[in-house]
Amino acid sequence: SLPSFLLTKTLHFLLQIFINNEWQDSVSGKVFPVYNPATGEQICEVQEAEKADVDKAVQAARLAFSLGSVWRRMDASERGRLLSKLADLVERDSIYLATIESLNSGKPFLPTLFVDLQGTIKTLRYFAGYADKIHGTSIPMDGEYLTFTRYEPIGVCGQIIPWNFPLMMTAWKLGPALACGNTVILKPAEQTPLTCLYIAALVKEAGFPPGVINILPGFGPTAGAAIASHMGIDKVAFTGSTEVGKLIQEAAGKSNLKRVTLELGGKNPNIIFADADLDLAVEQAHQGVFFNAGQCCTAGSRIYVEEPIYDEFVRRSVERAKRRIVGSPFDPTTEQGPQISREQQNRVLEFIQSGISEGAKLECGGKALGLKGFFIEPTVFSNVKDDMRIAKEEIFGPVQQIMKFKTIDEVIERANNTDYGLVGAVFTTDINKAMTISTAMQAGTVWINCFNALSTQCPFGGYKMSGNGRELGESGLKEYSEVKTITMKLVAKNS
Ligand code: ADP
Repeated sequence: SLPSFLLTKTLHFLLQIFINNEWQDSVSGKVFPVYNPATGEQICEVQEAEKADVDKAVQAARLAFSLGSVWRRMDASERGRLLSKLADLVERDSIYLATIESLNSGKPFLPTLFVDLQGTIKTLRYFAGYADKIHGTSIPMDGEYLTFTRYEPIGVCGQIIPWNFPLMMTAWKLGPALACGNTVILKPAEQTPLTCLYIAALVKEAGFPPGVINILPGFGPTAGAAIASHMGIDKVAFTGSTEVGKLIQEAAGKSNLKRVTLELGGKNPNIIFADADLDLAVEQAHQGVFFNAGQCCTAGSRIYVEEPIYDEFVRRSVERAKRRIVGSPFDPTTEQGPQISREQQNRVLEFIQSGISEGAKLECGGKALGLKGFFIEPTVFSNVKDDMRIAKEEIFGPVQQIMKFKTIDEVIERANNTDYGLVGAVFTTDINKAMTISTAMQAGTVWINCFNALSTQCPFGGYKMSGNGRELGESGLKEYSEVKTITMKLVAKNS
């Protein structure tokens, strides 16, 4: 578990609500416990934000956004410099942040350091660079006019994030919002508030003006719902389940029609043709579903394998899953840590039971692991049929479904036969198959001969019930601006 010196450092400033660059207790005086999912033990208690705290944060964020405020008058280049400074501070403290992230989320430490921390730093830097490069255009409109557009910040942005990538989601949300000049009220998931609160400390150290970034740890139905329905919040960005995404959009509609962007669930197809490089496909399909203990909206959890190689693909996938090392997040050989909570562990085990009772073949795994913590064995199902629950619903756990297909038309139809549309992948050495699948797939991202190849420069988001809008890339910036058209009548006077 966490070395005590780290915990001491933590206790100083991580356990309160961050509003106006100040650490505050909750209005209600309530706190909530935060756990280590690898042991089930409590790490600490954190002040719990509710509606009254959201009201306070909105006041602070509105004031920070008011015309003539320090933030509104600040040069765009200076906004970029502050974001860049924040990236530098995250980099300076990346070992510490990775340690806390591992402790609180159960992610193995080394991937946390190399994937999550790098992703966080790069995202902040990418958007830092954009701050003074957000250009409007001049438009040749009809008549005697001069017309141009300005990209202006939207205002106060509520941001609600999940527990599976606490730091990266913080950066994905803060980066574009701040580059565009908005102010922010961010709620981390109740399971994983710690690294996000540490970021708050770095925000203050970087020198952001008070009220620009407010971090409110708390629960969804209270703090989260208060953000989604607040009349003083101009936009809400949410990453989480499709179920809650619907509630967010509904709350926005019922309150002030605030702008809504959503990044929701996925049940992502991964199509493997018989001509694929089999070693590559097996390993990528394995990583694609088991990465982060399966707790990824991008998890490739519907694997369609062409008939001639089906049995061999299953055999190798099972052999790989059996070799997967599950254990303590702080053991450097660990590939897979625990699920985030007892609740999630039980949910995943229940899905596995449904797979067995609906007639899929359990090839390996299927059980909880160890006495302490929320671990699950890497689990592989073969002979999976499209109408089984494990083939239709998002499991969010280390469970691989392998299906068989015969023709390209058939597999396209089956791959798209879902309410989701986040990502998809295809493994083949035939460029025609690769392009046919890529263009036909209803998904925001398609990977060819790779999986989870995400990068801050590329737009990311979903078709259908996987979301609204795009994050990252230039598309991500657009979601944080209002476009204003300014038209001036030209009065030509003859002198
Ligand atoms: P999961 O089921 O995987 O925990 P959720 O979608 O429930 O995912 O949670 C993602 C984020 O949404 C968390 O920060 C959570 O607190 C928040 N949340 C949950 N319910 C609501 C709600 N009714 N309104 C606003 N936010 C919510």
